[in-house]
Amino acid sequence: MRIRRLKLSGFKSFVEPSELRIEPGLTGVVGPNGCGKSNLLEAIRWVMGENSPKSMRSGGMDDVIFAGTASRPPRDFAEVVLQGNSGDGEELEVVRRIERGAGSAYRVNGRDVRAKDVALTFADAATGAHSPALVSQGKIAQVIAAKPAERRMMLEEAAGIAGLHVRRRDAEGK
Ligand code: ATP
Ligand code: MG
Repeated sequence: MRIRRLKLSGFKSFVEPSELRIEPGLTGVVGPNGCGKSNLLEAIRWVMGENSPKSMRSGGMDDVIFAGTASRPPRDFAEVVLQGNSGDGEELEVVRRIERGAGSAYRVNGRDVRAKDVALTFADAATGAHSPALVSQGKIAQVIAAKPAERRMMLEEAAGIAGLHVRRRDAEGK
């Protein structure tokens, strides 16, 4: 899985449509405190289907939508587009959009899909919102302190078998 481009609009502090190209090799994001570096990583997690308030540093789902400042009104939607290549090299475009009070909608390669399909897409590419490839602030300490079950989950994501759990729950009708 390779992410080539990220487009954000109304997501957290990225109020104006913003585009980020990620070149091969190591990418560094630098800037002063509070400029939005962590928000970028959260955008990647969010488009992959993350909903946990803790990893999104939010209270409710709508908190990812630009909340407004003294000089700018709040937005009523947030959208993140992730473009890249899936595990087998196929072109992949995933879009997640949230409207205030109306929840999220997802598209994969132009088709409307369920959140579950997005989770499977990334799990099959051995990545996902909980992938150890996404290392956020404070995460190293968290891995060290993780309970065995949590650590197993991280390993399963990395090994690309997390998708099997989703399919099993599906098959069991849960
Ligand atoms: P540090 O170097 O301190 O880790 P950072 O570059 O990682 O900083 P972020 O945490 O990504 O910064 O960005 C924080 C900024 O994003 C804050 O100014 C906060 O007000 C803003 N922000 C977060 N959510 C929203 C939102 N929903 N609407 C508007 N601004 C938001
Ligand atoms: Mg930060």
